[in-house]
Amino acid sequence: MDLGFTPDQLALQKIAQDVVAKEITPYALEMDHKGEIKEGLLTKLDEAGFLNLPVPEEYDGPGLDAITIALIYEELGKGCAGVATTVAANSLASYPVIVAGTDEQKKYFFDKINNGTLAAFALTEPGAGSDAGAVATTAVKDGDDYILNGTKCFITNGGNAGIYIIFANARKSAGIRGLTAFIVDRDAPGFSVGKEEDKMGIRASNTSELILDNVRVPAANRLGREGEGFRIAMKTLDAARPFVGAVSVGIAQAALDAAVKYAKERIQFGKPIASFQLVQALVADMAMQVEAARLLVHKACWLKDQGMPFSKEAAIAKCFASDTAMKVTTDAVQVLGGYGYIKEYPTEKYMRDAKIMQIYEGTNQIQRMVIANQILY
Ligand SMILES: Cc1cc2nc3c(=O)[nH]c(=O)nc-3n(C[C@H](O)[C@H](O)[C@H](O)COP(=O)(O)OP(=O)(O)OC[C@H]3O[C@@H](n4cnc5c(N)ncnc54)[C@H](O)[C@@H]3O)c2cc1C
Repeated sequence: MDLGFTPDQLALQKIAQDVVAKEITPYALEMDHKGEIKEGLLTKLDEAGFLNLPVPEEYDGPGLDAITIALIYEELGKGCAGVATTVAANSLASYPVIVAGTDEQKKYFFDKINNGTLAAFALTEPGAGSDAGAVATTAVKDGDDYILNGTKCFITNGGNAGIYIIFANARKSAGIRGLTAFIVDRDAPGFSVGKEEDKMGIRASNTSELILDNVRVPAANRLGREGEGFRIAMKTLDAARPFVGAVSVGIAQAALDAAVKYAKERIQFGKPIASFQLVQALVADMAMQVEAARLLVHKACWLKDQGMPFSKEAAIAKCFASDTAMKVTTDAVQVLGGYGYIKEYPTEKYMRDAKIMQIYEGTNQIQRMVIANQILY
């Protein structure tokens, strides 16, 4: 594995650092408090080229490799994991189109993403979380169209996206082999956004319910074949999981940086708390875990970029990095003592933001199942 970065990768990382320092970090606590993204920020992120990161060059996107995207997501994660999640949902929704879209579908979908439209990937339902095969939304063929009925829940960008990838079952009796993916426009008659969730963390991101009430979707909007939805969803999650890892590394690094700064400044017993060996051990453990998590994320991305199998490594990277983010952010709160628990300081937000990384895009129990299956069978 080549651990060096190209000048282009470093230049994009620097752009991300500058955008985060100027446009995100100063407003992160305010966005968290209000539970919404700052007005105008999405336009700035679009201008910086962050909304269409995986769109291939032949469809007027940047065509970035996975490592470069991970470098950018780590920086966004440092600034605000809610903003990073909003941006990352566009990648998540782009992969089904990359995996299974026709030339025409790619042109249609990526044109919107390239023009700053937010997208959403809608698989989860009230009765179908980890068990994606239990999707109850139906797609019934009617002439040249499908009629979609059902409810999706917990969909990132659900309330502010312009275009959606919706998974529905086109052959109920076939169970998981009936799962089918569709491109659905927000203005499709019968499509509506339900309740917006009030969340523990990543509060700048929008998480909403979607309601499909006899939504007529042209068969031309079906991605791949009928019944190919599960394969498309799994391939998408494989591709996107290292990026959950990258955002997790960003959260953990930001928490470590805050803890180090505070430990040098805070005086107790007449000395900076950084001089106490028990605090030093906490900081050393945090640094080791962040470094290991980052390398696992880069390894999964590197394998993907080489065209080599990376499914197990993607699950390892997501699981290890998100567990690391949870542990490191909890320890950062500990280093700050009572101040770590107070909203004026950033550490409690990092801890709340870290938790979802262990849950979405497959819980860490599911990641462990993926890893064990690949090792054992
Ligand atoms: C803020 C937020 C944003 C989200 N964004 C999206 C999105 O954009 N698109 C989308 O489609 N979904 C999204 N989700 C949904 C998310 O992916 C699911 O919540 C997640 O996959 C878990 O499903 P569940 O909540 O139904 O939990 P469940 O599947 O009910 O799991 C509950 C618990 O049981 C465990 N469990 C379940 N099955 C097993 C098993 N076989 N073995 C061992 N343990 C098991 C789980 O690990 C978990 O601990 C989002 C969720 C949230 C909260």
